[in-house]
Amino acid sequence: MLDKRSDGNAEKQSKARVEKQSEAKAADLLNTDPNKGLTSDEAQERLARFGPNRLVERKPVTFVDIFLEEIREPLIVLLLIVAVFYSVFGKLIDTVTIVFVVIALVSAEVFNEYRAKKAIEALKKLSAPLAPVIRDGHPQEIPTEDIVPGDILIIRVGERIQADAYLVESYGLEVDESALTGESVPVPKSAKAKPPKGAPLGERTNEVFAGTVVTRGKGRAVVLATGMATELGHITGLVRESKEPKTPLQLAMRELSSYLIWVATAFSIFIPLVGIVQGRGLQEMILTGLSLAFATIPEEMPIIITMVLGLGALQLSRHNALVKRLKAAETLGSVTMIATDKTGTITENRMVLSHISADGMIDFKEGKVGRVATMLLEIGVLVNDAVLQKVNGMLNYVGDPMEVALIEAATKAGKDPQAIRNRFNTVEEFGFDSDIKLMTGVFALGGNRFVFTKGAPEAILSRSTNYETESGVMELTPSKKKEELEKVDMLASKGLRMLAFAYKKIGEGELVSREEAENNITYVGLAGFLDPPRHNVAEAVRETKEAGIRILMMTGDYAPTALAIARDVGISTDHDFITSDKLKSMSDSELQNAIKSMSVFARITPEDKLRIVNAAQLSGHVIAVTGDGINDAPALSQANIGIAMGETGTDVAREAADMVLTDDNFSTIEFAVRGGRKIFDNLRKGVRYYLAVKLGLILLFLLPILAGIALPFAPIQIIVLELFMDLGASAAFVAEPEAPDIMKRTPRKPSERFIDRPMLIAIFTGALVLFASVSFTYLIVLFNTGSTVVAQTTAFTTWIFTHIFLAFNMRSDKEPVLRLGLLSNKPMVIWAVSAIIVAVLVVTISVFHPALKLTFLTFGQWALAIGVAFISTLWMEVRKLLFRIAS
Ligand code: ADP
Ligand code: MG
Repeated sequence: MLDKRSDGNAEKQSKARVEKQSEAKAADLLNTDPNKGLTSDEAQERLARFGPNRLVERKPVTFVDIFLEEIREPLIVLLLIVAVFYSVFGKLIDTVTIVFVVIALVSAEVFNEYRAKKAIEALKKLSAPLAPVIRDGHPQEIPTEDIVPGDILIIRVGERIQADAYLVESYGLEVDESALTGESVPVPKSAKAKPPKGAPLGERTNEVFAGTVVTRGKGRAVVLATGMATELGHITGLVRESKEPKTPLQLAMRELSSYLIWVATAFSIFIPLVGIVQGRGLQEMILTGLSLAFATIPEEMPIIITMVLGLGALQLSRHNALVKRLKAAETLGSVTMIATDKTGTITENRMVLSHISADGMIDFKEGKVGRVATMLLEIGVLVNDAVLQKVNGMLNYVGDPMEVALIEAATKAGKDPQAIRNRFNTVEEFGFDSDIKLMTGVFALGGNRFVFTKGAPEAILSRSTNYETESGVMELTPSKKKEELEKVDMLASKGLRMLAFAYKKIGEGELVSREEAENNITYVGLAGFLDPPRHNVAEAVRETKEAGIRILMMTGDYAPTALAIARDVGISTDHDFITSDKLKSMSDSELQNAIKSMSVFARITPEDKLRIVNAAQLSGHVIAVTGDGINDAPALSQANIGIAMGETGTDVAREAADMVLTDDNFSTIEFAVRGGRKIFDNLRKGVRYYLAVKLGLILLFLLPILAGIALPFAPIQIIVLELFMDLGASAAFVAEPEAPDIMKRTPRKPSERFIDRPMLIAIFTGALVLFASVSFTYLIVLFNTGSTVVAQTTAFTTWIFTHIFLAFNMRSDKEPVLRLGLLSNKPMVIWAVSAIIVAVLVVTISVFHPALKLTFLTFGQWALAIGVAFISTLWMEVRKLLFRIAS
């Protein structure tokens, strides 16, 4: 269905595209002004006509699909066999009952899976990419699926291009087209290029193509084709949405459950076999075996994992920690080291220019500035990517906060930024490069050409030969250079982010390379920007440290600035730091040693980041790393958890990352680690309980079968109990609130097995408790009354109560449940209450008796069942209390 529809569109689009291809026609047909873009109405109309811009066929998750998938599972086949046996052997009522209970069970299972899949689908929606376009005269971000032919794309470094488009404006643009051509060397692109008509893909240098990545420069382009009509669409065709790969834990649980299936099956054959040899009823034994198989085969375990991961990840994503891969939800809890950026993550990233040094220092407030400071501000406004953009209906400058601050400062000083930008014509731009830490532009004013540069003070000063004063240009002597660097240190040690400015005049019409442009420049001055730490970061840092996690600050910023901020928020308590130069001179083992004690890494390049990540992993750390630039991608992919910035990050960084911080805030990382620990705890709790109860059931049958006495549950009862067992484990433990000590303990060791010794002990203890409690009441009543039905009813009741108490007990292995709050896990309370209601109803109302093979209990038998259930689990609570007192 979907296939056909998309093909229809593709055809339409392809046709439209061919016509639109020639530039003459393009202007008419696409009819877009590169400065204004389409109107929203036009765009909407075109979206309806050309269809959404996507190559992926999306199949929505529906309840029915999952239901159909589920009933094809082998277990359901087993169920049907049970039902058939019942209808052959038993009475009609038995068949009806089993079908009814089985439907309830399957529905519960399907619902669980539906919830998990919906959560994962919602996660995907949350992380759907946006693309910058110009519409209604203003730059704005729209979902990439809404791009239509005729849209004006804004092309920026690090962006993945989302449609085929021809360039109308470009500056130093280079694009990596490997996704399309396999060629990984970036291709220069230019609006001015005029490739011959019908040139092959690789030579169409005035066009950009969907799926390729901008590695350098910027520009604007008019969309020619979207979705299936793009070159990428022609090559790949419509693809099915790729399935999320299974996480290590999902795989491990799959493996474990496939192994446990055999254990459960073995017991489910062994028990009835012994019974048959002993001469027990054949039908009864077959039904018991089938029911036991049904109840003890741990097929739900992988679903529990997916559910806890999926719902946990969704919860995190709704709180600014967008989990892109489920693997991240699983790994977050074991993070032992966080390497974070400074600017924007630790600090607010809402910068304010506070100081200017331009032939004399000024505490910049507002009003009059001298000639040199004016020059500095003009450079700041020109070598600047911030644009006027409509955000929530308001026109604002949007872009790098430091650049926005420069525009605001110019405005405060009485200059009109727009007028400055109109006065100069841009000839060439060399975007900010985090390796050389400079950003440069070539501008024309009348017959003159100027190079304007801004960047890191050392980078500017080392390339400057002169400096500007109110009375003209002077030679920049080594002592003057030193004087300026001291000024930088002085301001930086207050935590100010520093920027220097420079210029040079070049010949009319002269074109220069980046290296030439940025050499022999005239130093103009410095600007210092206030970028205070975010208010809750210090607390998050403290909690993270308490949780045994090391924090490194890796920043491209200047060491004194980094140190001041790191000390301010508590990341560093000393005055030590490592700069990129120092780091480059270190061997790998020296670096491994350094990250044990050093916390501040300044003037770090993306390659340094990657080295730090590798060193940390070699030392056994599970490391989470933040990044935003295109060059950060390798470090982000290498890290155990790559974290991209949602606000300031590039597409490339976001694609490489496992998680995206939509608010760029460090404290969200701490929140996510906390969430990750909770997810992991709950996975353990759920699986622990799930397995304990299954094991308990098997044990419960072993004793009577070997002793040759009547079995504790009728087959139908086993199936009813199974309904509550699975619901308890899968639904209730998902909602377990985080443990009080969650950020007080050290991180889980990565080498630690999921099912470790304490967990095994807990599983066996839980199973033994169930076994002992139910066997006890069962045997007492059996020997006292001689009635199997009464004894089975007592066993049934005891089981329900014991496994409820056990569930509450197993919510924590350290904290007494009363300290956690009896009602603090709502789904568990609901589950417990409904199980009790069902138990009471089916035992006290005689209509249920024939179907469920139950009977009335005396007051004494009720008291026995509940009392034994209570006592058998109470001791474990008491034990927790004693441990608490002892420690
Ligand atoms: P971080 O984000 O970790 O602070 P960056 O690599 O963004 O590191 O910046 C490092 C240095 O490069 C800054 O301290 C500043 O001096 C300079 N810089 C940053 N952004 C720009 C820019 N847009 N233009 C010029 N220089 C910049
Ligand atoms: Mg930055």
